[in-house]
Amino acid sequence: MNRPVIVWFRNDLRIFDNPALSAAATTGTPLVPVFVLDDATDQIRPLGSASRWWLHQSIRELARSLRARGVTLILRHGRAERIIPGLAADLGASGVFWNFSPEPGAVTRDKDVMTALDSIGIAHCRSNGSLLIEPEEIATSEGKPYRVFSPFWRRVRERCRPDPPGQVPPVIAAYRNIKTDDLSDWNLQLCQLDRHAGLRDAWIPGETAALARLEQFVASAMADYPADRDHPERAGTSGLSPYLRWGEIAPTTVWRRVAPLMDEASPRGEAAAAFLRELAWREFNQHLMVHWPTITERNLRPEFDEMSWRQDPEGLRAWQNGRTGYPLVDAGMRELRRTGWMHNRVRMVAASFLVKDLLIHWREGEAWFWDTLVDADAGNNSGNWQWVAGSGADAAPFFRIFNPVTQSRKFDPEGVYIRRWVPELLRLPAKWLHTPWLAPDAVLNSAGMIPDRTYPRPIVDHAGARRRALAAFNEMRRTRRQGP
Ligand code: FAD
Repeated sequence: MNRPVIVWFRNDLRIFDNPALSAAATTGTPLVPVFVLDDATDQIRPLGSASRWWLHQSIRELARSLRARGVTLILRHGRAERIIPGLAADLGASGVFWNFSPEPGAVTRDKDVMTALDSIGIAHCRSNGSLLIEPEEIATSEGKPYRVFSPFWRRVRERCRPDPPGQVPPVIAAYRNIKTDDLSDWNLQLCQLDRHAGLRDAWIPGETAALARLEQFVASAMADYPADRDHPERAGTSGLSPYLRWGEIAPTTVWRRVAPLMDEASPRGEAAAAFLRELAWREFNQHLMVHWPTITERNLRPEFDEMSWRQDPEGLRAWQNGRTGYPLVDAGMRELRRTGWMHNRVRMVAASFLVKDLLIHWREGEAWFWDTLVDADAGNNSGNWQWVAGSGADAAPFFRIFNPVTQSRKFDPEGVYIRRWVPELLRLPAKWLHTPWLAPDAVLNSAGMIPDRTYPRPIVDHAGARRRALAAFNEMRRTRRQGP
């Protein structure tokens, strides 16, 4: 039998538009598809519980699609640095193919895998399957990485011309039987079962659902994307983030489908551009992470190392549980807990509340999102948290502090979203919904509300918290100026 080639699946759990898979298929030799659950390599951050749930479904879907093409997905658990070269040696493989993952831990680990493969004389081929443009191929006119989004976006718009997707034959040549783990033994789904019910109701993971979602979005919601995308009660965005996170759809697939529409001089053309601009934010965050790998853990702007964050475990818990007393923040945090996703506008408001109103370090919020989001992504999560905190690249300045009441009135005026996620407030009239603590007793009574019993009073006064945050920020700047 011909020597096989290994396709190492990672954050690219799809068949279509998967450059590593199609490159391996062109060799014409038998393929051995492999997924390694690598929670043993130190520098790889353990997955959060919502991600583990998603991964379980996603692997099952991928295994099913591969089986329909005649091959079995081989599952292994442990250090990829040992498993991949070990398997390649055992099978006498002629090569190993995979797609680039930009997370710093994966970049380091992949170098170790390459070194190990080199040492046993097995070829390896790395493709780009998770970004629109290879990170080395996009730079400012001085040849430096971008730190500002608008010129980055202009450049992506000019440069992004993805090749047509590679082909994968309907029947793939399989290799002999190889030992594989049983997915259920990985216990990816072993955590609070009540949460899984919410995730199951909200999502159908997998490539088929991803492609269908893109088509549905282009055919319907995309036309109103510029107006609707900030309104959490409307289904105004694509909901593609977890599919992009797990590579069940490639960003290049999205680009090829939507970019031609940008050329139309019409509202649809503008909507297409607005949507792809957001996709470029994902690209920007990955770009930052490739060039500043510490961004996932440390302030990109070192002056923020001097910030006096508060230790407030009670405040943190109230925020996590959606019990801050600010309805929009609480609705978002409950949506997150239930569905593993939160609308972008509400993510910004909830994140700002943690970092500025409670003055809790962005890393605490990032860690909670990492555990609870189905789209938890190292670049996007830390990039956005640092954007909100003001410590990141091209970030919102720290002194710009979201007012959770104004945001609530503006983006959910009738409280449709709030009522969906905070049922205690269901019967409160819209006039009082954004500030239930100001409602007269008679209104509270007839809405069945007892402050601090059915729903909390605000855990901080926003105006006072704002002053405290600005004072801390000014102090940080003073300390920095005086510096050692
Ligand atoms: P759409 O509006 O349909 O956008 C299409 C795609 O563009 C998204 O799927 C996503 O891949 C990308 N995108 C959109 N907005 C952003 C953005 N602000 N930054 C980066 N990419 C964007 N997104 C994640 O994918 N993973 C995260 O871990 C994550 N953490 C976040 C943390 C905070 C504090 C904030 C404020 C935002 C975070 N985001 C994260 C970005 C954004 O909220 C989600 O990508 C978006 O809500 C996903 O919904 P959608 O797919 O319907 O987006």
